[in-house]
Amino acid sequence: AGATGPGSTADLERRIAEDPAAFRVLTGDRPTGPLHLGHYFGSLLNRVRLQYLGVDVIVLIPDYQVITDRDTADRLGEYTDGLLLDYLALGLDPARSTVFCHSAVPALNQLMLPFLSLVSVAELNRNPTVKDEIAHSRQSTVSGLMLTYPVHQAADILACKGNVVPVGRDQAPHLEVTRTIARRFNERYGRVFPEPDIMLSAAPLLLGTDGTKMSKSRANSIPLSATADETARLVKGATTDADRHITYDPDARPNVSSLVLLASLCLDRDPYEVAAEIGGGGAAALKRTVTDAVNGHLAPFRARRAEYAKDLAYVRSVLRAGNERANALAEATLDEVREAMGAFR
Ligand code: ATP
Ligand code: MG
Repeated sequence: AGATGPGSTADLERRIAEDPAAFRVLTGDRPTGPLHLGHYFGSLLNRVRLQYLGVDVIVLIPDYQVITDRDTADRLGEYTDGLLLDYLALGLDPARSTVFCHSAVPALNQLMLPFLSLVSVAELNRNPTVKDEIAHSRQSTVSGLMLTYPVHQAADILACKGNVVPVGRDQAPHLEVTRTIARRFNERYGRVFPEPDIMLSAAPLLLGTDGTKMSKSRANSIPLSATADETARLVKGATTDADRHITYDPDARPNVSSLVLLASLCLDRDPYEVAAEIGGGGAAALKRTVTDAVNGHLAPFRARRAEYAKDLAYVRSVLRAGNERANALAEATLDEVREAMGAFR
């Protein structure tokens, strides 16, 4: 495919620019904690950008997926409100975009059984992201849901007939599962589903303060909604290395480089230049630069978020309207699926 050929990101961007109305985004975030900078640079910015291009953007809050790697779904209401506040403060416009949650859309779940029949246990066992999450999980056993949640994600995307999926790199194996299921379903029963394209950002895997993937559930993240002081404290706690001279070298110095990258993303500057400017100032200077860059970049977002937080009734009404639309979409797709499969009318 190459960097600009068919199937490349450049090619996808070209096709979207030509006919944005032919595209629908489906992506989302688990209600397991506040959104962080990894979400922001990995997926959220693309969602808002695509919305303004005229793409139909649908964002899912997958509440049932919370119990993939934990026993109970704690603080679900609080985290869901938080996600809605983050989306609105980022510029997701309810007049153009849709937000819904799993538990409100039962038709979506009915795709799970035919979809499960289209993948093998060996394929499920091979998924590298699932393996990594099992390794980081606090649970002592691996549930059936952990192994099959990528299939449920296929149901999310395909119930809405999403064909563009802006996500971080951890989602790439899952998107392959979705594409495989769409292809196999279409081959077996007749064409119902698009084969969705992944859209990766320029920062598809932001590392957290401990040097592993920034994740809501790993206590290594810098939340978008943190205060300036909390941000300073979190950045201060980041792992660095013994070399006082700051350079940008993601392979050799992942921890220092991820901090440099974070500053450069927030400042919209070249990471090599940012590192060169800090030079021999050491980790303390690097952390000051990162803190100032993050707080400066997020200040307008944080102010808007505080405004929306004063009107939770409105914020929740956005989700209710989104649930209604998602129900209609999922029911229409389920009708098509039954029709195609013949046996279930
Ligand atoms: P959890 O720890 O609960 O799984 P998470 O931080 O991994 O939370 P998710 O809700 O699983 O967040 O992911 C939401 C979206 O954000 C996905 O598209 C995912 O690829 C993207 N994303 C998450 N973390 C990062 C990251 N560190 N860098 C880039 N993208 C990310
Ligand atoms: Mg995750």
